[in-house]
Amino acid sequence: SQKWKVALVGSGNWGSAIARLVGKNIKERSDQFDPEVKMWCYEEDFEGRKLTEVINEKHENVKYLPGVDLGDNVVAEPDLAKAIEGANALIFVIPHQFIAKTCEQLEGKIPKGTHGISLIKGVDVKNGEIHIFSEVISEKLNIECAALSGANIANEVAQDSFSETTIGCRDIDVAKKWKALFETEKFRVAVSEDVVGVSLGGALKNVVAVAAGLIDGMQWGNNAKAAIMRIGLLEMKRFALEFFPGTQPDTFVQESAGIADLITSCLGGRNHKVAAAFVTKGKSFEDLEEEMLNGQKLQGVQTAKELYQFLKNRGREEAYPLFTFVYRVAYEGVKPDTITAHI
Ligand code: NAD
Ligand code: 13P
Ligand code: CA
Repeated sequence: SQKWKVALVGSGNWGSAIARLVGKNIKERSDQFDPEVKMWCYEEDFEGRKLTEVINEKHENVKYLPGVDLGDNVVAEPDLAKAIEGANALIFVIPHQFIAKTCEQLEGKIPKGTHGISLIKGVDVKNGEIHIFSEVISEKLNIECAALSGANIANEVAQDSFSETTIGCRDIDVAKKWKALFETEKFRVAVSEDVVGVSLGGALKNVVAVAAGLIDGMQWGNNAKAAIMRIGLLEMKRFALEFFPGTQPDTFVQESAGIADLITSCLGGRNHKVAAAFVTKGKSFEDLEEEMLNGQKLQGVQTAKELYQFLKNRGREEAYPLFTFVYRVAYEGVKPDTITAHI
């Protein structure tokens, strides 16, 4: 089959970790892949220089993945059109709030037959409708788009600690190619046809991780956190089955993109960390994101708002008390320690 030339749309914490992994694999699998990978960077200044210049000089994303060698075949590119030029396989890995604008710039510029994969954890809510980002990308750019999601804290993957992930892809041949691109001995890839379940697992667990962080901020202990994870997982599954009929409920309990991602995120992800600080420091999520994450982005709080808007619109917010509670804490001043009265 045709050789793939891969480009990344995104270069944050996860984007950089994935660029490194893919960069290593394509060097070793040059029969299947072009050996260079361009990584689109939303340009910014870093200590008086352009971030992309520093990345390409040091082969390190000094801002979003410091201390990790990306390899010399990963090339940062600030111009989006140039970054994807000639590529026939695109990895979308940017915070979900930026995908609409980014896709707009790409509309009409993507050759037919290009393969896409979304590593984005979030949902798109607009005009009372909800979509996963694989669908959004697919619709806007007129390409097929798979999904990759799992228990994948970027800093751990970047250190080659063992983890698993799930690729959701309906075309078996394309799925094999994505697997060859991403899989290493320490990054184990399972393939599923349930693109929606894979995507929703990653999006919805971010909201549950915020709740888990609130629990830790209040020092309520492990029983309480386990309860939140259980209740959260059930809401995730319920939500998927109600609004995305056809989703496989097993995805949530059997795949890395389900339960495993929920667990790792509730133990130590960014959403969890910032939510714990929301309790202990008493500042807004916006301020804490800015203070604690050095440009990295929270996904869970905004997702809680998007879910709430979607659910409220349908009069269904009460059927999802944990999701709704997270929204009310973040945006309506509801106190975290009232959680047991709500869920
Ligand atoms: P991040 O949280 O590190 O976000 C920072 C990135 O956003 C930077 O590259 C920055 O340049 C970019 N950015 C800022 N403003 C922008 C704009 N206006 N337009 C476009 N880009 C802009 O990003 P990340 O960790 O790579 O996360 C991307 C997606 O991957 C998210 O949906 C996240 O949930 C998911 N994810 C993250 C991890 C992780 O551990 N970091 C793991 C799995 C999945
Ligand atoms: P956070 O964005 O909460 O760090 O979650 C990262 C993640 O998705 C791990 O799989
Ligand atoms: Ca279309």
